[in-house]
Amino acid sequence: MIKAKRADKEELIFTLNELAREKEEKKKLLLELNSAKEELAFQNNEKGKRAAELKIADTELNFQNKEKEKREIANKDLEAFNYSAKLAAQYARSLIEASLDPLFTISPDGKITDMNNASINIIGRPRNELIGTDFFNYFTEPGKAKDGYKQVFSKGFVADYPLTIKDHKLTDVLFNGSVYKDGQGIVLGIVVVARDITKQKKIETELMEAKIFAELATSIAEDAKSKAENATRIAEDAVKAKQQFLSNMSHEIRTPMNAIIGFTKVVLKTELTAKQKEYLTAIKISGDALIVLINDILDLAKVDSGKMTFEQTPFKLALSISAMLHLFETKIQEKNLKLIKEYDENIPQVLIGDPVRLHQIILNLVSNAVKFTTYGSITVNVRLQHEDQNQAIVEFSVSDTGIGIAANKIDKIFENFQQASSGTSRLYGGTGLGLAIVKQLVEPQGGTIKVVSKLDEGSTFSFTLGFQKTKFDAEPISMDIELDPETKKIKILVVEDIALNQLLMKTLLDEFGFERDIAANGKIAIEKLQTKNYDIILMDLQMPEMNGFEATAYIRKELNSNIPIIALTADVTTVDLAKCKAVGMNDYIAKPVDEKLLYSKIVGLVKKTMPSNSIVSADIHQSKKSKYIDLNYLNRRTKSNPKLMMEMISLYLEQTPSLIGIMKQSLKDKDWKSLHSAAHKMIPSFSIIGMSVDFEEIAKKVQEFASTQQQTEGIPDLMTQLENACIQACAELEVELTAMKNKAV
Ligand code: ADP
Repeated sequence: MIKAKRADKEELIFTLNELAREKEEKKKLLLELNSAKEELAFQNNEKGKRAAELKIADTELNFQNKEKEKREIANKDLEAFNYSAKLAAQYARSLIEASLDPLFTISPDGKITDMNNASINIIGRPRNELIGTDFFNYFTEPGKAKDGYKQVFSKGFVADYPLTIKDHKLTDVLFNGSVYKDGQGIVLGIVVVARDITKQKKIETELMEAKIFAELATSIAEDAKSKAENATRIAEDAVKAKQQFLSNMSHEIRTPMNAIIGFTKVVLKTELTAKQKEYLTAIKISGDALIVLINDILDLAKVDSGKMTFEQTPFKLALSISAMLHLFETKIQEKNLKLIKEYDENIPQVLIGDPVRLHQIILNLVSNAVKFTTYGSITVNVRLQHEDQNQAIVEFSVSDTGIGIAANKIDKIFENFQQASSGTSRLYGGTGLGLAIVKQLVEPQGGTIKVVSKLDEGSTFSFTLGFQKTKFDAEPISMDIELDPETKKIKILVVEDIALNQLLMKTLLDEFGFERDIAANGKIAIEKLQTKNYDIILMDLQMPEMNGFEATAYIRKELNSNIPIIALTADVTTVDLAKCKAVGMNDYIAKPVDEKLLYSKIVGLVKKTMPSNSIVSADIHQSKKSKYIDLNYLNRRTKSNPKLMMEMISLYLEQTPSLIGIMKQSLKDKDWKSLHSAAHKMIPSFSIIGMSVDFEEIAKKVQEFASTQQQTEGIPDLMTQLENACIQACAELEVELTAMKNKAV
């Protein structure tokens, strides 16, 4: 038991020891655990520290990275900036160099800091020598340059400041400058462009010179103009004086010539011995020649003063040509020449134009042909060149087999006072005016004149003239007008102040068998008109107290009379036809009076206006009863409608002359069918205008003879009666129509 107790004690001791060791062990372990814990805490702490450090390092790294990125961008920008700055500098330089004008940059103290090549070229020194030098010293006026420079600073710029560079050419420049500043606005210097204006200056000087010259030239021209105007005035005065002189002379010469020729003609018609007749004929021929010369000179004066006028009257060309050639028959026979007339039958019978002027043209050409031809023939050819609805162009030519004209003279012969050779005047006479007048008569009428000639072979003068066509008949120009008993009793008032002319008129009118009274001026004429009836007045223009224009105006306006008035004038240059017409004259006739013309004009006018002679009012119902027509029927048929009446009358006036024309032509051509149809068309018109049934019967007879073609030899006679009646009827209707129109207005 002790043993066991010992064993137990021992065991217990052991166990206690064990326990104590375990405890110690545990303690040790705890200590170790604590230390491990502490270590772990430390470690954790360290770890936390390291994590925080790591975070800081990370942030730093990020920051560093960002900074790096920024730096890289900044570097790139800088590179780009450097590149564009380089470009900009190059660009600026190239711009500066592109300028042909000198360009400088100058420091505030006036030293040159840079310049372009143009500056180097102008100044003629290298760049390095120029940099740093005084800018102002390069100008002829350094003070002025400095002033300009100062202005740039005070105003910030200066524009077009004129200076001259002191180079070998002394280049003129316009100085333009402005300041340039740095980023802070501090002025670094100025940029100057000096524009080279040498060329402009030169142009300016030239312009100035040109202007001075132009002004000088203008003043010279003005001087010349005023001299020319003076000369023109003097020339015009001279022309006026010439006109006046010619006008006076024409009056002075033509009045006695008028009497000489007129009375010679009168005496020639009396019983004379052969010798007396011979002498008087010589006087008449000389007188005629003198009148031709005076007329030539007056014609030229008229041409000069632009007073040549052309009539537009219906006339028969064939008759006109024949009548004129008739005048040369004796002369041509005397010279043993042959006259050949070639007339184109296609030319319309009646044309409108100026037969008197045409006469004058052909007369001149034929008389030259006769004058310059000794052997052979003279051919007058009249040919229709062109015809349309309204007009006919006729070519006239006069050919001869005479002396001809040298080629070098041919252009001259149409000039005043020009003859083809110096001997012409001595050998053949003449003044060299004829062709000049012919040209002046042809060209203003729209015609042309030509000449073809060969020395010793002959000449051909030809010209063309255009004429209007007409349906109306021409006024008769010969004395062969049939006078009915009523016409024989024509009462004429002659208003003329010169006793010689009065006497001549009396003689002529007595010969015609007319009644006549004389008034010495317009005033007396008016008194006479108020106490006695006249059929027509022959009115001189230049008279004392009251002249022809004044008297006519009074007769038309105050006396309200339509009496026909023919102006008589010796002075063709100043006769103003427009004025004659304006005051109401019906026609004019030049002195010395052509008796045939006078006769035909008196009869023509009196016949034309017979129904309305001396009528104060134009009222048709108050008018003297017409002889061929009676409008009562038409009046009834139209129920006195004036418009309808006028239309009917116009229609008659339009168709009758053409029907007569067709009938005459058909008769000539023996075209019975056409004659029958024209007569048939005419028949109803007689009753419409109230013509006697006798004329209707005549027309019916013409119609019948044409259709049966029997008794055709009687037709011409019937046609003449018809034609005369129709002409009369037309003349009366014209008067009625005019009166109606006047009333309608
Ligand atoms: P004039 O016959 O009065 O001398 P013109 O003016 O009629 O004046 O003619 C001028 C000139 O033209 C004439 O002098 C003449 O030399 C020349 N001449 C005109 N017509 C003919 C002609 N038919 N033949 C030859 N020469 C002519």
